[in-house]
Amino acid sequence: VSELAPPYLERLSAARRKMAEQGVGALALSIGAELPWLVGYEAMPLERLTLLVVRGDAEPVLLVPRLEAPRVRERPELFRLRPWEEHEDPYALAASELKGSGVIAISDRAWASALLALQRAISQAGDASVRFVSAGALLSPLRSQKDPWELSRLAGAAKAADAVASALVGGAVRLVGRTERAVSREIGERLLAEGHRRVGFAIVASGENSASPHHEPTDRTICPGEPVVCDFGGPWSPDDEPGYCSDITRTLWVGEQVDPYFATCYAVLQEAQATGVAAARPGQPAEVVDAEVRARLASAGLGEAFVHRLGHGIGLDEHEEPYLVAGARSPLLERQVFSVEPGFYLPGRFGARIEDIVVAEAGGGRALNRAPRGLALVD
Ligand code: ZN
Ligand code: ZN
Repeated sequence: VSELAPPYLERLSAARRKMAEQGVGALALSIGAELPWLVGYEAMPLERLTLLVVRGDAEPVLLVPRLEAPRVRERPELFRLRPWEEHEDPYALAASELKGSGVIAISDRAWASALLALQRAISQAGDASVRFVSAGALLSPLRSQKDPWELSRLAGAAKAADAVASALVGGAVRLVGRTERAVSREIGERLLAEGHRRVGFAIVASGENSASPHHEPTDRTICPGEPVVCDFGGPWSPDDEPGYCSDITRTLWVGEQVDPYFATCYAVLQEAQATGVAAARPGQPAEVVDAEVRARLASAGLGEAFVHRLGHGIGLDEHEEPYLVAGARSPLLERQVFSVEPGFYLPGRFGARIEDIVVAEAGGGRALNRAPRGLALVD
């Protein structure tokens, strides 16, 4: 479809520049998003060690368990593959690759057990001066500004999620008489049918459950005369490159008679969400965008009811930098991609949320999601 390709070599050079700037001698990438971002390979989250060692000078080495080597797409321009056998000690191998690195930046989601074993092996090898820091902190400034290839992937993921959201809003998914769990399952199946690699999550929160932002779907049966909040997404990819995530929320009203107070609050929410999207332009501190949306809800008496941050960055991770929250003073940067997802939650009564994925652009944020946001009456 597109001639774009993931620019792994450029990313490797950029990562090495960051390492030099921050005095980091080696990257040690294992489970989590840093590894697929850098070289396109995602480690299996199992106990056997997968580790990419990148140093300033030498060729990167990817240590993988022998039985997982067949799933590695070889990229000789990026790394040398070193499968380790079941009888070998992968931590001793890693320690010898990392020898003399000084400061080592390790994946944020590497197992604690792997880090401990690595520290032990390094100290047994007599390398006393090693210190570990976060690879997430080192790489997130690079990861948060998406390149054109990543933008096309995130747009594809948003389009796939939109197809499911549009089916919900358009009434193609029956709600009345079904349980939250059954509707959640159908949303998941539809996400997979639209090209998602797996279902990240599919929240279906009906009636007073809609007042719980991270509600786990239950066997509650959906009835007329109540709202249903549907928030779903997961990694999407049309080929063997790592999946970029979708994340969308739409709130529906079941039946014909909308509670007048709910309708009033929802109208404010929709306007506040649009305000947030428009305000999300480069140069604007993330916390200011959060505050503008919060002020709009507060002016309608819903300030206390908006109990979470406005949004989170998205990419290979469902949640990553930047976060749109009080205290996030850094200005947004062009090509950062994040959610704008205000909500209101009135315990014992009901709640609602509207969420789109947005790209920071000079003229204001551009929503990648296009599914209708108005309150849909469905059954
Ligand atoms: Zn969401
Ligand atoms: Zn989200």
